[in-house]
This record gives sequence, C-alpha cells and structure tokens, in this order.
Amino acid sequence: MKRSLLVLSFLACSPLSVAEDLVAIQAGTLLDGRADARRDQVIVIRGRRVEAVGAAGSVKVPNGAAVIDLSRATVLPGLIDTHTHVFLQGEDPTEGGYDAQLLFHGLAYRAARATVSARRALEQGFTTIRDMETEGAGYGDVGLKQAIERGHVPGPRMLVVTRGISTTGGYPLEGYAPEVEVPKGVQIVDGPVAARKAAREQLDHGADWIKVYMTHRSWVDKEGRLVSQPTLTLDEIEAITDEAHGWGRKVACHAYGGDGLRRALEGGCDSIEHGLDLDAAAVAQMVRKGTWYCPTLSPYLGGWGPPDTPAGRRDRKRAEVHGPSFHRALEAGVKIAFGTDVGGFSWNEPMAQEFAQMVELGMSPKAAIRSATTAAAEMLGMGGEIGVLAPGAFADVVAVAGDPLADVRLLEKIVFVMKDGKVFRNDLH
Ligand SMILES: [Zn+2]
Repeated sequence: MKRSLLVLSFLACSPLSVAEDLVAIQAGTLLDGRADARRDQVIVIRGRRVEAVGAAGSVKVPNGAAVIDLSRATVLPGLIDTHTHVFLQGEDPTEGGYDAQLLFHGLAYRAARATVSARRALEQGFTTIRDMETEGAGYGDVGLKQAIERGHVPGPRMLVVTRGISTTGGYPLEGYAPEVEVPKGVQIVDGPVAARKAAREQLDHGADWIKVYMTHRSWVDKEGRLVSQPTLTLDEIEAITDEAHGWGRKVACHAYGGDGLRRALEGGCDSIEHGLDLDAAAVAQMVRKGTWYCPTLSPYLGGWGPPDTPAGRRDRKRAEVHGPSFHRALEAGVKIAFGTDVGGFSWNEPMAQEFAQMVELGMSPKAAIRSATTAAAEMLGMGGEIGVLAPGAFADVVAVAGDPLADVRLLEKIVFVMKDGKVFRNDLH
C-alpha cells in the first residue's frame, strides 16, 4: 500500500508522466515591467513556461491549445513580494502579540497557519515571495517551500532565509526574568566565528538568502531624532556576507538608520530592509554599491502606540522619516524592490496596498509595478524567469479589470492568477 502510494505520488509530480499542457491567453492589454502597455496580445504557454508572446495578428493560437479569454482585462506577470513572513499572523495584541506565537503555538500549528498565509499570497497574485525569516519556527520555511514545489499545498514560489540572525540583546523574546530561558525569534550570534557558523548552518539547511538584523530597538532622543541600536559589529556582518557570497547567495539586512545601517552598507549587505532613516550619505553609498532598498512602507503607517508614550512617539517619528527617506532614495536612483512585511500585519489586509503607498510618495505607477516585477526579479537573481512575460519565463500570469497605470489600487483586486502554467484563480468566467 505504502509503495503504491509512493509510486503514484512520484508519477503525479514527474514532468515526464503527462503531456505538457498547451495554453493560449488572449490579453486585452499586456503590461510588464519591460515595455509600455500593449493591446490585444497572445501569450502561448507550454507546460510551466511561456513559449511565445506577441500581437494577436503575429502570434497564432496553436492547434489544440486551451484558450483563456482575458481580452477584457489587463494582464501582468505574477507579482513578487520580496519581504513577507508566512510564519507570522499579524502579532495582534488581543491574541497575545508576537510572544504568544513563540510561547504557545507549536511548530505544527504555526506550519499549518503558514500554509494558509502562502495560499493568501498566491490568491492576491503574488506568485513569488522572498520570505524573511520564520520568527522562531526554525527551518519551517524550507519545508513549506518543498511542499509547494511538490504540489502538496498551493502557494507562491518561495525564496527563504530560514532563522534570521541577530546578536545577544538584539531580538525578542525579551523582558522576561533573567532566570527564565525563553525562545528567540532569530539565531543569536556573538563574534565573527559564531556569525559565520550560523550563516553556514542556515545555508546548509536550505537558506536561499541570509537575513540579518543590523538594528534593533529604536527611540526618539532629546533632540527629537530617531535613534536605532546597532546590533552586529562590522567584523560580524562581514563574516556573514563573505560566507553567503561564497555560496553565491545574498544577504538582506534589516536596518533603520545610524551605525547599524552604516555597518550594513560597509559590510556588503545586498538589500536594506525598511531603511526608515536613510540620510544623504547612506543613499549615495547605496547608489555606489548597487545596494537594493526594500522600503516596506505599509506596516509603519499605522498601528502606533498611544501618542504620549515613548513607543507612541517612536512610532510617529518612524513614519515621519520614512517618507522622506523613500523619496531621497527614489530621486537618487537607488534600486527599489517591492516588499510588504505582511505577516507583521494581518494576512487579511491587501498586500498590494503597498503600491498605493509608493505612488503617494512620488513613484510612478509604472515604476511601482516594475519594483514588484522586473526589478524584484533582478534582485532575486531571476531576471528573465519571473517578473516578465517573455519566451522562456515561468508562466506566472495575473490579471486585473481596468488599467492599473491609471489606478494602482486595482492591483488589490486581482481577478486571475496562474502560476507555473496552472490556473489557480479565475473570477472572469
Ligand atoms: Zn519583516
């Protein structure tokens, strides 16, 4: 019994066991990060890849192809969110906040909920995510990624970072009696040897990227400036970037500003996450080094503490400096990748709300879409494979009714999702 099940599941997954599906999508308007909107296009898909794309007159629907009529919609490549947390569920204080997830929720429970988060991302048209650490759930992201790849559960293609890295005093859980051993939401390292070893372990267990927290606490000082506590020293972060780069992998650094941000840039980080407080020097260095910026605007614009408390003042200050930082980076030509930090806020909120935030701060809708397609693909080292609809790319396709260049909020209402050539959602038929 067991053996026959194994054989069956092998056959179901094997690309040799079934003839490759042939599909033609008729697109009313095609919009991808590389070109201007094109009318009346045909996208031919064989198996999991795009075979041909072109004007309806020049690219013919092949004989025997299943036709999907999106002639009244705008068709885009599958969207990419480069900063998610499928193992977080919004940290709602009424449900115990962050701490409850680590203290009361077992790994199986968290993994079960993470499969729902992954499905939510796909439903909303995000066919690729870079998931930015499991927050105490170990290597659960590697397992979920495998389950998606093997077709056991629906979800986006995932690039995972596993456990995340910070230093002693650099990550929750915290505030418990010193005698009580509590779990931490990251792997804690002190010293370059431990830092390198943690990176090696995580890479060995399947990390596609390494995630490092380069700042932790933040507060408003007497002069009214936002201050962030730096975590890893320069030699610690250099040990990690050196190791990761040796494996051909990249390092994402959570950094708000100040010394932690400077060390991240100096130490060779490939992407700065959040970057709330980017001064002119940091922006210039990012341009010079080609460092990516993943601003994650949405989570900082609400959910603030009461105004007359240190936490409330900090939260307001963060939001106040974030916009100008984003604007400075945009003007200087820093490479910007779309990221939401969803999971840090509820998976019931639309991930695509981030587009409107970016546009409100001066980015064009076209550039915002590019940040979630071609630009994100480039950052992930998958240019030409995702974030674009062209021959050879994965057949990840989404559609909206209307023109997202005129109203970027339409991206919050995705009506069609295909991933790897398989239709996951179609509200149009
Ligand atoms: Zn995050």
